[in-house]
Order: sequence, then C-alpha cells, then structure tokens
Amino acid sequence: MSRAREILNEVFGYPDFRGQQEAIIEHVCAGGDAVVLMPTGGGKSLCYQIPSLVRDGTGIVVSPLIALMQDQVDGVREYGVRAAYLNSSLSREQQLDVERAYVAGQLDLLYVAPERLLTSGCLDLIARGKPALFAIDEAHCVSQWGHDFRPDYLGLHVLGERWPSVPRMALTATATTATHKEIRERLGLENAADFVSSFDRPNICYRIEPKKAIAKQLIDFIKGEHLGQAGIVYAISRAKTEQLAEALTEAGITALAYHAGMSSEDRRAVQQRFLREDGLVVVATIAFGMGIDKPDVRFVAHADLPKSVEGYYQETGRAGRDGEPAEAWMAYGLEDVVKQRMFIQSSDGSAHHKQQQSRLLDAMLALCETPNCRRVNLLAYFGESSAPCGNCDNCLTPPETWDATIPAQKLLSTVLRLARERGQAFGAGQIVDILRGKETEKVKRWHHETLSTFGIGADLSDSEWRSLARALLARQELSVGEHNAFNLGPNASPVLRGETQVMLRKDAGKKKARTTRTNAATHSSKPQPEPTGPEEELFQRLREWRAGVAKEKGIPAYMVFHDTTLRQFAHTRPRTETELAQISGVGGAKLQAYGQDVLAVLAES
Ligand code: ADP
Ligand code: ZN
Repeated sequence: MSRAREILNEVFGYPDFRGQQEAIIEHVCAGGDAVVLMPTGGGKSLCYQIPSLVRDGTGIVVSPLIALMQDQVDGVREYGVRAAYLNSSLSREQQLDVERAYVAGQLDLLYVAPERLLTSGCLDLIARGKPALFAIDEAHCVSQWGHDFRPDYLGLHVLGERWPSVPRMALTATATTATHKEIRERLGLENAADFVSSFDRPNICYRIEPKKAIAKQLIDFIKGEHLGQAGIVYAISRAKTEQLAEALTEAGITALAYHAGMSSEDRRAVQQRFLREDGLVVVATIAFGMGIDKPDVRFVAHADLPKSVEGYYQETGRAGRDGEPAEAWMAYGLEDVVKQRMFIQSSDGSAHHKQQQSRLLDAMLALCETPNCRRVNLLAYFGESSAPCGNCDNCLTPPETWDATIPAQKLLSTVLRLARERGQAFGAGQIVDILRGKETEKVKRWHHETLSTFGIGADLSDSEWRSLARALLARQELSVGEHNAFNLGPNASPVLRGETQVMLRKDAGKKKARTTRTNAATHSSKPQPEPTGPEEELFQRLREWRAGVAKEKGIPAYMVFHDTTLRQFAHTRPRTETELAQISGVGGAKLQAYGQDVLAVLAES
C-alpha cells in the first residue's frame, strides 16, 4: 500500500480516495505541479494535505480567507495533523511561536494569507525552513474578471521562481475555461498537469419556481422540507436580507442576516454561529460563503435571480458538501428579469462589457425557463454533456409546455403599436391591462382603449401574461428601456411574422413531494440508511454528545465527527475500538480522542 493511502486510512479514517484525488496526490508527491479544478465538496483539501504529510517539510497553503483560517487549522488538528497559520490576527508572541515551529520542522501544514506571504520577511522565513509544497487555494482569485479578484494573487508567481523544485498546486471550484487559462498563465503554471473533474454534484436537487410572495414561499420551502437544518438564503440587497431574516424568525425559523453593511465583528459572529450551531439559516448577499466548508448545509435558496450561471453554481455548490442529499431552490419572477436587464443597461461599463453581462444573464435565464433537465443545462454550460438526471424539478415533475405563439404575437404587437402609432412605451402593468381590456384610469387617460389590441387577451390571467412577458424578456423577444418600459427585443420580428414558434413551460401549480434521499446518487460508497425509531434516537443522542464536546473545545460540531459518521455509528453499533475504526471518518487521532466516549454512548442503549 502506498504511503498516501496509509495516511488516508489511518489519519483521516477514509477507506477510499474519491475521483481524481489519488492521481493528483501521486503526481504532487512525486514533485509535479498541478492545476486542480474540482467542484465544491469534491475533496480538494486532501489533495494538498496528504502530499504535505508524505513529503519532507511543511506544506504552505495560500488562502485568502483570514476569517476562516482558524477553523481550517482546528479542523486538520482534529486529525492529529500539526498545523498552524500566520495572519494579522495573531499576537507577536503567537506569531514567533509559529515561526519557530516552522523553522524547526515541527509543522505539517502552514496556512498563510497571500498579502503576508509576499512580504520579504515571510519569504525569508519560508526559506529558513523546508517547504514541502505550495498549495494556492481559491486560485480563481487571480482572475481579474472574476468577482473574487485579489490583486495579491498576481504576485504569487514568485514562488515558482524562488523555489523551482518545490511542487506547486492551484486549486479552485471555478470551472470556466477562461479562468482556467488565467490561472495557468498568471501563476506561472504553464507546465503543470491539469486535473479537471466533472462538475456534477449529483446529491444536489435543483428546483426553480416562479416568484409570487417570496417570504411565504421561502417559509413554506424551509418548513416543508428543511426545518431544523442549516441553510443559506441569498438575496440581492442588504434591506432584503434583513426583511427575509425577520420574516423567517417570525415564522419560527432561526435566521440571521449577513451583508456588507454590517461591522466586521458582527459578520464574523454570524459566520461563527453558522459554523457552530445546528440548523441556523443565514440570509445573505453574495458576500457570504466563500470558503465556508461546513459540510452539512442542507439547502441553498435564491430569493433573487443571480447574475450568472457561474455565480449560481458556486453559491448552490455550498449545499451538501458531505455528499448527502441537499437542495438548491430558487424563485424568480418578471421583476427580477426587468431589474437585471435595466441594471446592465444603466451601468457605466463599455458596450462590450454590457454585452458580456447580457450574455451571462441570458444563460441564467435560459436555465430558469428550460422545460428540460436543469443539470443537463448547467453541465453543458461548463462544457460537459450528460443525460437527464432524475434529481431536478423538471426531471421529477416534467413541466407541461404550451404553444404561446399567438399570445406572444398579441403582446409584441401591443408594444409595437404603442411605439408606432403613439410613440409611447409602457411597463408590464399597462400592457397587461390593455391586453385584458381593463378600463383603468390610466388606460382612459392615454386612450389606450382605442388601440386595436385592446381586450384581445382576456383569455389569459394577469399572472399568465406576466409569465409570458418574463419568458419573452428571457428570450430577447422583448427588451426593457427607461422606466422599465417594454420595447421590442432583437428577436421579436420572426415571432411577429409567425416564423418562430414560442413553446413555453407552464408555470407549475403545486409541486410534487420532495425527492427521497434514496433518489439522489451520493458520493458515499455505501448507501446511507434512513434512520428510524431507535436508530434515529441513538443518532440524536450521539449528536447531543457531539454538541457537548464541540462546545467544550470551542470548535464546530462537524469537526468532531460528520453526521454521516454518527449515522453509521447508530446503524452498525460498534462494540469495540477495532469495530469503530472501520467506520469512514474515524482516523487514529479521533479514535484515541473520542473512541471510548462514543462506545459508552452506544453501550447505554
Ligand atoms: P472542497 O474543498 O473540494 O470543497 P473538501 O476538501 O472540504 O472539499 O471535502 C469535502 C468533504 O468531503 C469533507 O468533509 C471531506 O472530509 C470529505 N472527503 C474528502 N475526501 C474524502 C474521501 N476520500 N472519502 C470520504 N470523504 C472525503
Ligand atoms: Zn434533471
């Protein structure tokens, strides 16, 4: 057996490598450079942790997430790995201790923020000890076009120049080819081996539904399927995160807001509670989440439309890192589309930039409107082809489609007539009133009852017209201008001429019951049993025991043992340490620290 596999079994307590882990680890152990693209939850950490243990010296991990370094270090220390970090939160004394330990060769892993690493003091420190490898985590931060750009990352190519014989790895969960290329170029990794994994997250069920009353929909979603579970809700504005957190709290769901307007202490406190408490919901702007490696986030909900599929995939990827079933849920409506289109148009960027932003949004909207498998659509966006997944709303409850060609023509010709005959443009409300033949004040004031399209759409409801408008906006058959007024979009003409058929998904009425856990393919090698009766009770008692330990040690509960491991304890009820050690997630250090306690809890039943 190789040394790497021994460490996997004995230190981390896992029976097998996942996906490309073994190939990556072998390559780096042998001294090669690597670029690792793996989805969130794929298991990137082991890819640098194990080579750091195998190779002589200390693995230097570059991470932009200062607020999470302490947790990262606590997490690996639980496995008995000798780890420390250097960042601005340490006192002078603490820093000197860490430096001494590094130079004396007493550390397996050293986490450093890029801005610190690049100081001459820190580079000299590294030269005084022995670096086993350099792992550049969240490597997409080097991309100037990405939303996580960190200028300091651009300086990291010096590592290769100064230590040409020390292996370097860049790791990220951002998948686009453009980012991939930038990572190779800017970090001086032109000769590195590429390890690109499938970006599929089979245990995540994707669901997208029309937005009606968002707070109520969100409460129903959480209460219906995720009560007492940890989740993240993304909303577009600070005010909205606060409103939604309040609405959830009133409905009896423990929820906290998180946004850039809060002080850094307050934000840190929310993050700490999220990591440490069971079943907390955080309602956040996109600023929350990078590097949150909490494995048991059971759902990610989007209360507003994300700007791009990349963003959506990264955010939803924070659910279910433990491989257990998780859900990505989103509600979106006409206002979202109007708002985002307007936002792009009124931004300061160049025409080229606007065009780029539009293209990103178009792909996002296509995902929302598709009647076909969501996962096939998502993976295709990242250049992977796949078959219908059986674990998304469209696969589970195929939506009906309808031929909306004639209503689409009615709507578009109303917009056209207003423009041609009156030189006017109006928003959704007025257009729908005209189509439905409503003699409102506003209709009479503008004499819109005399338009030839007045009342030609009484057969559809307000909300059906609004859904249609949303779809036409998504398809660029409509566009929005000033004051959210509709104009014909670039794709309107073929529809008006009857050359394009407009087939749309019907907005689902009642959704089907949620998928059962057995539906979802998971990463786990063994199917996870659904605990019932005494087994569930035992699982709950183990969780209580774990909560006590975590509290005492001041670490998040999942660092003691994951839920999956506790569930296995409850299911197989080991009686001896040898039996306990067979279970995935029980490495040597954890066996020693907790083995007797766990056996005692199990023996009580
Ligand atoms: P990433 O950094 O790619 O998002 P992590 O390294 O945090 O993913 O790993 C995700 C989860 O999977 C962690 O809880 C980790 O302990 C677990 N894991 C990683 N590799 C394995 C493996 N070979 N067997 C079992 N669990 C694993
Ligand atoms: Zn599907």
